[in-house]
Amino acid sequence: MYKPFTWVSTLLFVALVSAAPANASTPLNVIASFSILEDLVKRVAGDLVSVNVIVPAGNDVHRWELTPPNVLALEETHIVFYNGLGLEPWMRHVEAMSDEQLMLVNVAKKADYAPLTISTGQYQGQPDPHMWMDPTGAAAYIDVIAETLAEHLPEQADVLYARAEEARKALVILSQAVQERLEGIPQTNRTLLTSEAGFGYFARAFGFEAQGVWGVNHETQGSAQAMAKMSEYLADKRPRPSALFFESTTANIHMDALARETGLPLAGPLYVDSLSRADGPAANYFAMMRHNAEVLHKALGGARAE
Ligand SMILES: [Zn+2]
Repeated sequence: MYKPFTWVSTLLFVALVSAAPANASTPLNVIASFSILEDLVKRVAGDLVSVNVIVPAGNDVHRWELTPPNVLALEETHIVFYNGLGLEPWMRHVEAMSDEQLMLVNVAKKADYAPLTISTGQYQGQPDPHMWMDPTGAAAYIDVIAETLAEHLPEQADVLYARAEEARKALVILSQAVQERLEGIPQTNRTLLTSEAGFGYFARAFGFEAQGVWGVNHETQGSAQAMAKMSEYLADKRPRPSALFFESTTANIHMDALARETGLPLAGPLYVDSLSRADGPAANYFAMMRHNAEVLHKALGGARAE
């Protein structure tokens, strides 16, 4: 398939020849691949580091294509924090830019956290990249971020590690809060059906079963075959869950069709691959996880326990 990447190549070349090395007088500039990782990096970096993002909040990280402003920002960047494990297929263009001035950090791969295997779709058998959906996974990301930044800013290492420790404690409290919000949901209704199967880690952490119309990391979305499979799954499932869900960064078309077919209500949005804008319900990682718990609580019957 033809892809018009010529201008990207041109900009990459310009970036490569003009990248300036970091020195004591140059502030450390880092960039995160997507908004959730940006938030976690900022939590550790505070005001010590300038933190930018490649895929702004509200956009689909899987299907992004580098923009001219992205390439210009990368030109000024020293460290790129990206998730890896196939989340960002467009990272291959950033890899083409990497040299001794531009360090790439594959956060999920470096994180000390047990990966899940993708169970369906084109990437079946590979590790699922959505580790941040479990606060314990997010804590493992915090460690990678703190170690990387401390290496670059050894004089600030104590401050960075102290912030990381604070973030880790807050993540434990968050995990408990999410657990409590989900408590009333009956075991028979703990099924999370979404467009992309991005809730595997969340499901493992909080005792749910997660299914998606398509698998994980898809650059294309939802074939007729995938829809038929989900439709069949719902027809066979007894009892059926009391709701279906849509995500903030995917088209609702498949879940809408399934909701019409089954008569089940469609709830959401759930946030998984992106934060909301600053004035939305998921402006940071903590708000995102609490918002998702609230949506599930209301849609799956947690409210009945009150
Ligand atoms: Zn995803």
